[in-house]
Order: sequence, then C-alpha cells, then structure tokens
Amino acid sequence: MDLRSLTPAELAERVRAAGQPAYRAEQVFRWLHGRGPADGVESAEAMSNVPRALGQALLEGAPLRPLAVDAVQQAVDGTRKLRFQTHDGRAIESVLIPDENRREPLDFRLGGRGAGIADADADADADGTDDDDGKPAPRLMGRLLRDKLTLCVSSQVGCALDCAFCATATLGFGRHLSAGEIVEQVYHATRIAGRRPTNLVFMGMGEPTHNFEGVSRALTLLQHPWGAAFSARRITVSTVGVVPGIEKLGALMPAPNLAISLNATTDEVRDRIMPVNRRWPIAALLDAARRFPLSHGRRVTFEYVLLAGVNDSDADAERLPRLLRGIPTKVNLIPWNPFAGPAFTRPSAERIRTFQERLRAGGLAVYIRTPRGDDIDAACGQLAARVEAPLVELQVGNAGRVPQPSPWPPTTSTAS
Ligand code: SAH
Repeated sequence: MDLRSLTPAELAERVRAAGQPAYRAEQVFRWLHGRGPADGVESAEAMSNVPRALGQALLEGAPLRPLAVDAVQQAVDGTRKLRFQTHDGRAIESVLIPDENRREPLDFRLGGRGAGIADADADADADGTDDDDGKPAPRLMGRLLRDKLTLCVSSQVGCALDCAFCATATLGFGRHLSAGEIVEQVYHATRIAGRRPTNLVFMGMGEPTHNFEGVSRALTLLQHPWGAAFSARRITVSTVGVVPGIEKLGALMPAPNLAISLNATTDEVRDRIMPVNRRWPIAALLDAARRFPLSHGRRVTFEYVLLAGVNDSDADAERLPRLLRGIPTKVNLIPWNPFAGPAFTRPSAERIRTFQERLRAGGLAVYIRTPRGDDIDAACGQLAARVEAPLVELQVGNAGRVPQPSPWPPTTSTAS
C-alpha cells in the first residue's frame, strides 16, 4: 500500500515499529494530507521536521505513488477538468465545478465546525450534491458566506460497469485507485483552485462501491481533523446501484450522502441501458435505498440521465414518483451529455421541462442538472481521460467569457 493510503492508526503502528514517539504519526499525516496549497503533495522527503531515518523507514514500507498533473482545461462556465497521470502511467480525471450562485458559510472552507449550518438556498444543485438541509440559511450580511465549489473525483481507472450512455464505460476497467490517489485529487484541486472545495462528489470515473476499500479509506482520510477535515455531510458517493455496496456505505460511521443512478423506471429499460440492473433490479435497489440511514434532513439523491425516447415518456414521469414513494429523495435530472459513439440523443429543452413539471406534480423534489464544462468533455458521463488527446496546459474555452481564471500555481509540474 502507498504511504498516503494509510490511516492515522496504521501510520502510528509503523511509527512505533520504527521506534519513534507517537506524535510523529501526526506530523507525518499532516505532511501527507496537509491543507495548505503546497503541503505534502509531492514528496515525503520534504518532511522537514521528521527525522530522516523515520521518513526513509516509512517510505521503504510504503512508497509514495504520487499523481502528476497532466493537464488542466477550463470551460467557458468556469468548470475545470484536471487530468492526472498515475505512477504507472494511467490517466484519470477530476472536475472542479464552481457555482457562484450558491453561497457557502465560510467556515466549511476552513474545515471548521459549521457543518451543521444550512446552505443559503435549497435550489437546484448544478453538481448534484445533496447538501441542503431544507432550512433557510443564515444570512450573516453575506460576510460569512462563500461561493460553493464542488470537486468531482474518480475512484477507478476506467469502469467495469457497462452503462450504454457513459463515456467512461468505453474504456473498460483499468484498476482501482488507492485511497492515496483518491485524496490526492482533492489536494491537487485545492492547490489549483486556491481554496478547498466545499463539496466532494464521487461521480467521476469508476464505480465507487466496486472500490469500497479505497473509497472508504479515502473518506476516513478526508474527514480526519489532522487533514482536510471534511464533514461527511459535504461528501456524496454516487453508485450505479450495487446493493451490497449501498449497505456497506450506509454502515460507515459517519455515512456519506448517497446518490443512486436510477436512469429508468422499468427493469426492461434499465436492463438495456445499465446491465447491472440484471443483478440488482429496481425493486432491490429501492429497498436498499429505503434502508440507507439518513441523518436529520438528509435525502437520497436519485440521478436520472434523460435519453430522448428511451426514459423520458409521460409514463416514466408517472411511474417515478410512485417508485420513490416513502424515500426522502431529491431527483437530479441530467440531460444526456453526448460523446462519440452511442446513438442516444438529449431530449429537447421543452421535453425536459415538461418531464420535470410532471415529476413535481407527482410530489418529487426535482432539479435539472445543467451540463457543466461540456465544451471540454467534463460534464457527467464524458470523462474518458483520453491519453491520445493533445495535452493542454491551460486551455481557456473562450477567453472573452471567462470571468477570472485563477492563476496557475507555480509549483505545479506539467507534462507537455
Ligand atoms: N459509477 C457511479 C459514478 C459515476 S457516473 C454512478 O454510476 O453513479 C456519474 C453520473 O453520471 C451517473 O449518475 C451517471 O448516470 C451519469 N452519466 C453517465 N454518463 C452520462 C452522460 N453521457 N450524460 C449524462 N450523465 C451521464
């Protein structure tokens, strides 16, 4: 296992085995998971306040397998896609999604104790995070509020599921990402954005529940007060609908928010577009959702990719509220994002609105997830980390319309 994947307890064990006092484990952990933009991302040799012999002993037992930032692309809407190269030459992607219309309490950003404070509004979430508490937000003269910034991370290289509408599926399964590789996406993104994301969503490449070991470790690391100190309420794990995986996520203490990619209202259609449905059909999936532990005010997010003529009929709009009855939910409609290959189309804007209206009439809280970053293939289902694509250090989609691209940190290494 790589050094950055180790939990504080495991680090402590190794520090003890190296004959060093326990407090060294905290020092090392802070180096590896530090919050500061330049902290601890590149090398443990830089652990200046830790005895060199200890650093060496730790690295011998567990090497660093850092990600290299390969390319950063910026879309006209401010969304940035980060492409990383793993130590073994694989490509993965994360997406930074700013949302200036939503304000966040400042102390989320500082990893502070504000995690119980409601969001500024319970409106549509462009990124699909389920983080509103359904309560009015505190409005402290705008001073303690901060723009929302969501980071979408990958959990695997490629994906083993074979969803017909998803670009990542075309890659097939590469391998699981280690916990260290998952959290490092967050640290690089923090450095590149110049601030910590307010929300994390496991909606990038891969199926998080297939890599439960890596993902659950990453959650532990990201929530630890020595590190980035994220609240579980600010983290959403999205699954294709692996029932045992949902059960395992629900058993975590604390459990993250759950999002389920439902995408159909009949087994007949879901079997066709999501082969995983043959293993865990809709009824079994919704049972698991019903059993998922929800702390106060939380809801399960159901994602629903809209495919014209496939799952957007009036009959679908009638069935969906009935299927979800009894589950505290929020539905995110995702107009299909095209990529080269499958013969799907996105429904018309009017059809999408009508579908939403009908779901609302059926009593559902339903939002349309506006495509973000689709001009750079950063939108849902477009992540395919095409290594053959030309590497672009910072591609500005349309310079005239980009508000203020953040400066590229001088410490970042880029391939070319
Ligand atoms: N494997 C996980 C997380 C990755 S997919 C899961 O299935 O939930 C993240 C979301 O993007 C899912 O809800 C998926 O249904 C959606 N998605 C996949 N391909 C898409 C596309 N081409 N257009 C729009 N959404 C897509």
